[in-house]
Amino acid sequence: MKTIIGFIKAYKVPASIALLLMLIELMVELAQPLLIRKIIDEGIVESDIHTIWFWGTIMLLLALLAFFAGIINSFFSGYAAQNLAFDLRTALFRKVQSFSMTTFLRFPTASLITRMTNDVTQVQQVFFMSLRVMLRTPLVVIGSLIMAFYINPSLALYLVVGVPFLLIFMYLMVKKSIKQFSAVQKRVDRINTMIQENLQAIRLIKAYFRGKYEGSRFEKAAFLLKHDTSKALRLMEYIQPILLIVMNIALLAVLWFGAGKVSTGQAKIGDLAAIVNYTMRLTGSFSMFSFIIMLFSRAKASADRMEEILLAEDMPKEKIPYNDVLIEDKDDVIEFKNVSFHYPGTTTYALQNISFTCRKGEKIAIMGATGSGKSTIFQLLLKFYDCSEGEIFVNGRNITDWKAEELRQYLGYVPQQSLLFTGTIAENMRWGATAATEEDIEKAAVQAQIHTSITRFPNKYQTRVGQKGVNLSGGQKQRLSIARAILRKPPILLFDDSTSALDVKTEAALWEELDTISATMLVITQKIQTAKGANRILLLDNGTVAAFGTHQELLGSSTLYSKIVRSQAEGEKYND
Ligand code: ADP
Ligand code: MG
Repeated sequence: MKTIIGFIKAYKVPASIALLLMLIELMVELAQPLLIRKIIDEGIVESDIHTIWFWGTIMLLLALLAFFAGIINSFFSGYAAQNLAFDLRTALFRKVQSFSMTTFLRFPTASLITRMTNDVTQVQQVFFMSLRVMLRTPLVVIGSLIMAFYINPSLALYLVVGVPFLLIFMYLMVKKSIKQFSAVQKRVDRINTMIQENLQAIRLIKAYFRGKYEGSRFEKAAFLLKHDTSKALRLMEYIQPILLIVMNIALLAVLWFGAGKVSTGQAKIGDLAAIVNYTMRLTGSFSMFSFIIMLFSRAKASADRMEEILLAEDMPKEKIPYNDVLIEDKDDVIEFKNVSFHYPGTTTYALQNISFTCRKGEKIAIMGATGSGKSTIFQLLLKFYDCSEGEIFVNGRNITDWKAEELRQYLGYVPQQSLLFTGTIAENMRWGATAATEEDIEKAAVQAQIHTSITRFPNKYQTRVGQKGVNLSGGQKQRLSIARAILRKPPILLFDDSTSALDVKTEAALWEELDTISATMLVITQKIQTAKGANRILLLDNGTVAAFGTHQELLGSSTLYSKIVRSQAEGEKYND
């Protein structure tokens, strides 16, 4: 909550103006019963038309004043609330971008989305409502009580009896409902996760006829959301009737005893009218409380969820001094020395005692069954995670001494899953190399074997991909991702199974082009054909190095490698 309040502090000035205007509205509201009393006692009872006109006009003017104060208050409240939401949203987004992979994976994606959208909106609304009306409510309660006392203490006493009881009751309700509303937000998370998964997997769902099944799963989640929300709201439903009963009993007492006092001359009829009026306002404010409690509880739950992100552990600050010594290209560009690694939160090692070196300009193929740790090698090289044991050197420098940004500038990474952003093809290619010219882009596309396909699109390089754009095939996406990486001209290229969707001929042409680039390459692949084109092959088995050497060497020394070669050769026979 503290962190969120820190954000609110930035809007002290507009919030204070709004509150000040709210006080004007409050004072007018509290003054009105007094004026009514004057009109009754000095005007109506005395039949003095002049007094009625005079105080009536003042009442009208005050009402106008409150009206304008309300409008200007809305303006400032809206300004502060909108800006608060903007600040919170951008801060959350920035924070999430700065997460280490470990922290990022702690939150489900859908939950992050809910926090940046729905939760921000909850807090924004409550902040606006607070400035506009909510903070006025308790003041109306206190003010009405004071004014009632001022007018006639003995009658006001009947009002006071109910109030403490109501306050304790409300406090208990707030405590309970905060818990219930955070449960509700969790249900919203769950729903969003399901929606996200289902929309992403729509093809799979259609192909497996699982639409009905997924539909009923969703229905269950939606039912739980409805159920929990109703439960939380039901609490509110108790508040209103209880309030009304207590306050109406108080009102009856005021009228009953007030009538007695008026007939004996201990009170004036205007006094009674004013106190009744205050009692009504009190009741109105109290019954608004239930609504306010609900909003506050919800916002508190949302604020806590946002805070969880804002206070989550950052990427550890790199204490690496700025290194202005140019990193010379060493002969050994990449070196793994007895590297072992297990993912945070797991105990089984994904990599065990991995050692290999990659010389400058060399192309090394990384092979191994799925789950053998191939992609993990890249994750470590990119410094997404730190090694559990052992060391990794890039250009002779331990990667713990590389600034992450510097290191990643040095590496061109093509992930296993090709991702494109909504935008044009050129924008997608230029994404990692903003300074690239049109010639650069075209050259990279030619090298990545995607240029011809692009020229066939209606708007060539300006064709939009993603939403409302053309749909690219898996192979086209892979080649675009490769083009994006080589456009940056990094000294080291990392391909994570990036040619899996290419046909033999296209892939051969691709490697012919890529082999002319002077970069050092690590190529994860499943295909012997691709591995053969590499200088050396690193064969992984269950997180360990099974073999490392040239194709010929491995044929002679590794039974595992020979087995893979044989199985793929047989596959080819059937294909022919
Ligand atoms: P490959 O790329 O060879 O298919 P990976 O390097 O992706 O294999 O995975 C190696 C092992 O690490 C697997 O057992 C996998 O389940 C595990 N693993 C991969 N990513 C994570 C992660 N983020 N958290 C925990 N375990 C993971
Ligand atoms: Mg992988």
